Amino acid sequence: TVRVRIAPSPTGNLHIGTARTAVFNWLFAHHHDGKFILRVEDTDVERSKPEYTQNILDGLKWLGLNWDEGPLFQSQRLDLYRQSIQTLLDNGSAYRCYTTTEELDELRASQEANNQAPRYDNRHRNLTPEQEAAFIAEGRRPVIRFKIDDDREISWVDLVRDTVTWKGSDLGGDMVISRAADEHELGQPLYNLAVVVDDIDMQITHVIRGEDHIANTAKQILLYEGLGVKVPEFAHTPLILSAEGKKLSKRDGVTSIDDFKKMGYIAPALVNYMTLLGWSAPDAQELFTLDEAAKQFDFDRVNKAGGKFDWDKLNWINSQYIHAMPAEQLLPELIPYWQAAGFKFDPDADRAWLLQLTSLIGASLARLDECVEISRTFFTDSVILNEEATAKVAQPGAKEVLTTLVTTLETKPDLSESEAQELMKQVTKEQNVKKGVVMQSLRAALTGEVHGPDLIQSLLLLHRHQLAIPRIEKVIG
Ligand code: GLU
Repeated sequence: TVRVRIAPSPTGNLHIGTARTAVFNWLFAHHHDGKFILRVEDTDVERSKPEYTQNILDGLKWLGLNWDEGPLFQSQRLDLYRQSIQTLLDNGSAYRCYTTTEELDELRASQEANNQAPRYDNRHRNLTPEQEAAFIAEGRRPVIRFKIDDDREISWVDLVRDTVTWKGSDLGGDMVISRAADEHELGQPLYNLAVVVDDIDMQITHVIRGEDHIANTAKQILLYEGLGVKVPEFAHTPLILSAEGKKLSKRDGVTSIDDFKKMGYIAPALVNYMTLLGWSAPDAQELFTLDEAAKQFDFDRVNKAGGKFDWDKLNWINSQYIHAMPAEQLLPELIPYWQAAGFKFDPDADRAWLLQLTSLIGASLARLDECVEISRTFFTDSVILNEEATAKVAQPGAKEVLTTLVTTLETKPDLSESEAQELMKQVTKEQNVKKGVVMQSLRAALTGEVHGPDLIQSLLLLHRHQLAIPRIEKVIG
């Protein structure tokens, strides 16, 4: 069975790139009835933080990317890594290296002076026991290095990129797999070693991750060989690029899933959008749930080129999801935005009214946060008419229309929709004006603007909260 994993490092909040990699892993696992596993790569003690782990777990759950096994924490598996390091030492594919930091700095400086790429020169590969003893006597503390021969060629058939080939000489010399300890102990295992040991232990069949890991893959394949284990399949997914086609970075502002959430993107829409960042359905379908996408997902249709971030498309997808939400489902999503804006209401006592308001504005929202501006007029005590609205209430017949309307509203505290419609017709007739005059002057008086959501519904909502009459009265003076 297919077993894949997402392996975030908790050195920051859940990033859009990691989330998109998680989406592809999830889709692939579900397409093949396999398992999607979560592993937290928290071996970098200085930069890893528990609150980032929490943020990543919460974010994946929010997106609906539920995992079948885990989370496993690398920090709790150090013994496992040390066993494999010992295996590599025992079978001769790794060795203790006593080169000091100063010596390495010197080496790098001389390489730089000769315009050479920095690399370790493997100088301690074949130390005699006497040489080792002398270094130990000097008090040097060894790291463990894994041998990488310059003349090796590493190649694999990538599920996205077809055949990828790397030269051993481009991997920087023998690589450190364990930090310094003393000559008996093994120190802190390093990244590539831990990943390989975990992927072996977790029986991962397909490693699906961003293309920024390609050089790591070359090194990791050598580690699989060193440990005598079959190499899994690899799929390197394209990076997410900014709208300008550059690598998406913190400077682009929004990069964490939290940011998107705060901006009013909803989880199924964001996941839907991420699915399309580098993949397309055979029939060009654009709106689907994760389960629907999983049925069709395959690496054949994953692009090699990076996926440009397209805000218009994200907004469109988000609006489609919001518009399809019934008011009961949408209301709880809007309440926090209204509360944060300082609007006064009681979520329980005003529920019927809030549901009506939600139905009224839902269809014009592309993002949840837009609910604040669209509905501000329904929560404020008074409105100030803008220039256009002022002109509308000053047009011939407007004052008389509004006076008649207010008189009727006063007698009808519980106006129904059909009564409101009837009232508009009646006033139009009585005052012998065009329908437009009634509509325009009423909207202007009620909202201070000339555009907005459905007028009858707006009137009903305002009237139910005793806001309609005072606003009209203020205009007619
Ligand atoms: N911890 C790595 C990252 O966050 C994951 C690499 C992998 O998937 O092997 O980029």
